Amino acid sequence: MKNSSDTFKALISHCKEYGYVFPSSEVYDGLGAVYDYGPYGSELKNNIKQFWWNSMVRMHENIVGIDSAIFMHPKIWKASGHVDAFNDPLIDNKTSKKRYRADVLIEDHVAKIEAKIEKEVAKAQKRFGDAFNREEFVTTNGRVLANQEKIDTIMKRFTEATESSNLEEIRQIIIDLEIACPESGSREWTDVRQFNLMFSTEMGSVTSDANKIYLRPETAQGIFVNFLNVQKSSRQKIPFGIAQIGKAFRNEIVARQFIFRMREFEQMEMQFFVRPGDQMKWYEEWKSRRLSWHKALGSPAEKLQFYDHPNLAHYADAAVDIQFQFPFGFKELEGIHSRTDFDLSKHEEFSGKKMQYFDHELDKSYVPYVVETSIGCDRTFLAVLSNAYCEEEVPNAKGGTDTRVVLKIPAALAPVKVAVLPLVNRDGMPEKAGEIIANLKYDFNCQRDDKQTIGKRYRRQDAIGTPFCVTVDTETLENDTVTLRDRDTMEQVRLPINELKAKIGEKVSLNELLKQL
Ligand code: ATP
Repeated sequence: MKNSSDTFKALISHCKEYGYVFPSSEVYDGLGAVYDYGPYGSELKNNIKQFWWNSMVRMHENIVGIDSAIFMHPKIWKASGHVDAFNDPLIDNKTSKKRYRADVLIEDHVAKIEAKIEKEVAKAQKRFGDAFNREEFVTTNGRVLANQEKIDTIMKRFTEATESSNLEEIRQIIIDLEIACPESGSREWTDVRQFNLMFSTEMGSVTSDANKIYLRPETAQGIFVNFLNVQKSSRQKIPFGIAQIGKAFRNEIVARQFIFRMREFEQMEMQFFVRPGDQMKWYEEWKSRRLSWHKALGSPAEKLQFYDHPNLAHYADAAVDIQFQFPFGFKELEGIHSRTDFDLSKHEEFSGKKMQYFDHELDKSYVPYVVETSIGCDRTFLAVLSNAYCEEEVPNAKGGTDTRVVLKIPAALAPVKVAVLPLVNRDGMPEKAGEIIANLKYDFNCQRDDKQTIGKRYRRQDAIGTPFCVTVDTETLENDTVTLRDRDTMEQVRLPINELKAKIGEKVSLNELLKQL
């Protein structure tokens, strides 16, 4: 059995070998924390985006979509607070010369203590079996309580230091916790400094500060500045939402863990505009709707958890992360933030234009409050693949077993829905395969595979995550039937070619996932 770190490494190399994700600019030795999506990866990513888009825009009469530009007026980032406050505290290790995010070093330290608690819980669970009561155990066991107290003390100190931007204190916490550089093991740390995460460039031909523009670090601001354009043109009434999928850029200091933290990534964000005072109701509502979305996508409940932010961002009055259990631990997959009227009010102030909505029912104008759901498309992609990646022992023809690697991606999201395999490359079988593809390609992404033995072809399609394989054999030529193989059960059924579309269609439709919401 592989441990989770080995599984993660295996997943990364699988992604490269099977055309999911490649390191960017690989022939030039790559570019830090930038990745390219290959033929299967781009299909999966598109399917994830389509599921998100449909779940927001099609499933809600009061949510509409936009596609705003990456380049925006530089004042927008001043107004939003990003120029002054979109910083990460960074610290260098003097021995290894490696740079780290100070907050991440502390959070990782806390995660290790949390892991100790989970180990105690797992041990006790094994000992007590069905009679085990987690709540009772974690509130009474001495070792768990001592570790929980350690965590609470660290988090209290860390929260106070962050809220007061006390960089010296953040450094002192690292020193006091005896946190060592993961690379060199050294505890020689520099001071903590703030580092702005926005990339900038110049617009036009003259290089001066006036022409400086930023690559957007989030898609949300494109929604805020278009709020009235969208509301008026689509005749929406509050409460209503605006959804957008698009690239965002952050000059992340510690970019690691594959596509989890990239410098160029894609966000799927929805800003929901509500009456002032209604925000907490909608915040709770969107927490629950978004959790259901993750479950519909195939994430088991035990791999998802809410994590309340100990420190709120400058714009929020409530914030929670939906964390997913990645192979490297529970980490943020999506953020749900109650952003108050901060952004719209700031844009009013900086642009001098009204950002108000006239509420006919209340007979007055106001700046709406906003509840945002913001999810990383790439992190969702990684979550889907982490759930899907399996190494299984399966019986082989010689009476022994083989290991098969299979991506059990939910069929509706799978890059290729059906592979059509002529058993041999003669006797009219390739032509028959061509006819089947010609008939199915309007409904499903199909692939023909005619290289190697049939067994190897099944393994390859398993590794790609193709939910169905259709095999054309001698009998097909006699009576127009084929075998249909299911990726997960590996069972094969024989059926007439003209039943394929309906049979596959009911299993691979995105609508089935949408109906679960
Ligand atoms: P983190 O704490 O992990 O840096 P964040 O709190 O800064 O994330 P948000 O600003 O809330 O992230 O962005 C919303 C979502 O965008 C995140 O939940 C995540 O899925 C995604 N995201 C943010 N930064 C990155 C990144 N560098 N690479 C990939 N996805 C990202």
